[in-house]
Amino acid sequence: MTGDAMNAAAPSADSYRRFEPGSDALSGRVIAITGAGDGIGRALALAAAGHGAELILIGRTVSKLEQVHALIAARGHAEASIAPLDLERAIARDYDTLADALQRRYGRLDGLVHNAGILGTLTPIDQYDVPTWVRVLHVNLTAAFALTQVLLPALRASADASIVFTGSGVGRRPRAYWGAYAASKSGIEALSRTLADELGSEGRVRVNVLNPGAVRTRMRAQAYPAEDPGNLPRPEEVLRPYLWLLSAASRGVSGQSLDCQAG
Ligand code: NDP
Repeated sequence: MTGDAMNAAAPSADSYRRFEPGSDALSGRVIAITGAGDGIGRALALAAAGHGAELILIGRTVSKLEQVHALIAARGHAEASIAPLDLERAIARDYDTLADALQRRYGRLDGLVHNAGILGTLTPIDQYDVPTWVRVLHVNLTAAFALTQVLLPALRASADASIVFTGSGVGRRPRAYWGAYAASKSGIEALSRTLADELGSEGRVRVNVLNPGAVRTRMRAQAYPAEDPGNLPRPEEVLRPYLWLLSAASRGVSGQSLDCQAG
C-alpha cells in the first residue's frame, strides 16, 4: 500500500463519532496511553480496558495511575501495567527503559495514545515567559516525538497498530494568547502527518490526530475559569472516536485530523 493510498482512506463523514464498539472491540490489543491518571486519558483507559485492551498506563503521578490500575482490576478487566514517566524531565534512558520493559512483557504495541499535555499560560506573545514556552513545547510536542520514536519497533511488530495524537482547535486555527499551547498543537498536526506519510508505504501503523473539543477537565477549567463546567461533556462522553481509531474498524485510515465533537 502506498502512502497516498493509506492517507486517502478518510472516514466517511462523522460515522466515527457514532461508533458503537462491541465489548471485545479492543480484545487482545496492547495499548499505551500517556496522561492516563486524569481527565480524558483516565476515562479512555477505563473504557479501553472495558473493551478488552491490555493497557500500559503512562503518567507522572503514580498514585493516580495506581487508582486507575485498581479500578481496572476491580472491574475484572485484563491487568494493566503502570509506567511512570514525567515527560518534562524524562531523559533518553527513561524512554529506553520503558520501551525495553514493554517489549519484554508484550512483544508488541497495537495502540499508542499521546494524551498527556499542559496548557502553559494564556499570555500575549510579547509577554510570554520563555521557560514556560520551552516546557509546553517539550511536554506537548517533543516528548510525544521521542516516545513515538522509541516505541516504533514495538508498533511495527503489531499487525495493525494505531498512533493517536491529541490535537486542539487552536492547533488548527491559532488565536491570540494561546501562545506555546497553540504552537505545540500545530506541531502535533505536522508531526502526525509527517509520520503518517513516512509509514504509509509500510501499511502497518496508522497515524492520526484527534481533537477532543471542549471537555470537562482540569485543563479546560484552567483555560476558562469563569465557565460553568456543567455545560461541558464529561470525558466519558467523547471517547467513541478514540475507541474507533484504536480498533480494527479504522484500519487503513491514516494522516487524518479528526474531531470528537461536531461543530
Ligand atoms: P488534564 O489536565 O485533565 O490531564 C492531563 C494529563 O496529562 C494528566 O494525566 C497529567 O498528569 C498528564 N501530564 C501533564 N504533564 C505531564 C508530564 N510532564 N508527564 C506526564 N504526564 C503529564 O487535561 P485533559 O484531560 O483535558 O487533556 C488531555 C489532552 O486533551 C491534552 O493533550 C489536551 O491538550 C487535550 N485537549 C483537551 C481539551 C479539553 O477541553 N479538556 C480540549 C482540546 C484538547 P497529572 O495528573 O499527573 O498531572
